Amino acid sequence: MPSSRRWSPAYVGLGANLDQPVEQLRKAVSLLGIVNDARLVFVSPAYSSRPMGPQDQPDYVNAVAGLVTTLEPLELLDALQGIENQMGRVRDGERWGPRVIDLDLLVFAGVVMNGERLVLPHPGIHERSFVLYPLADIAPSLKVPGLASVESLRAAVPGDDLHRLEESLI
Ligand code: ATP
Ligand code: MG
Ligand code: MG
Repeated sequence: MPSSRRWSPAYVGLGANLDQPVEQLRKAVSLLGIVNDARLVFVSPAYSSRPMGPQDQPDYVNAVAGLVTTLEPLELLDALQGIENQMGRVRDGERWGPRVIDLDLLVFAGVVMNGERLVLPHPGIHERSFVLYPLADIAPSLKVPGLASVESLRAAVPGDDLHRLEESLI
């Protein structure tokens, strides 16, 4: 019997700054492509940038993926954290410290929530060039719930700290 669950669009931010970050993002994209009850629809170009927070760590590489899914938001977060764990992410407690992979749920359909495990939309979106530029590449007219369109948010954030990479993630 066909599922009665609806397909929701969801956008995931990918970031890495250890162990060949472009390769880590490629691995994460391939794992996003096999999440149960989700379909990977878009993958942005990759961008490099200086780290947020502690500066004594390598540059980051970031990208954004667009999915459709019949999962609930927390179920999708479980899947993202499963991929982070599978890829060997070590949580040492340092906020914004170096990592092999970070998968953040940026936007899930029109959902606005402030849960213990999940805040939607992701609270950093409006101020992070490394999220807004790749997100604008794949979904410029997306309305971020409670905010504005991706394109108008992007236009308000300088991108001079970002470098678009030639390497494709797919
Ligand atoms: P930031 O979220 O500011 O980019 P971070 O990605 O380094 O920081 P993590 O260590 O990856 O932070 O995640 C810390 C916690 O954030 C996770 O355990 C998760 O439950 C919670 N969290 C809340 N909202 C979200 C979200 N939208 N996407 C991913 N994790 C979230
Ligand atoms: Mg993050
Ligand atoms: Mg995270």
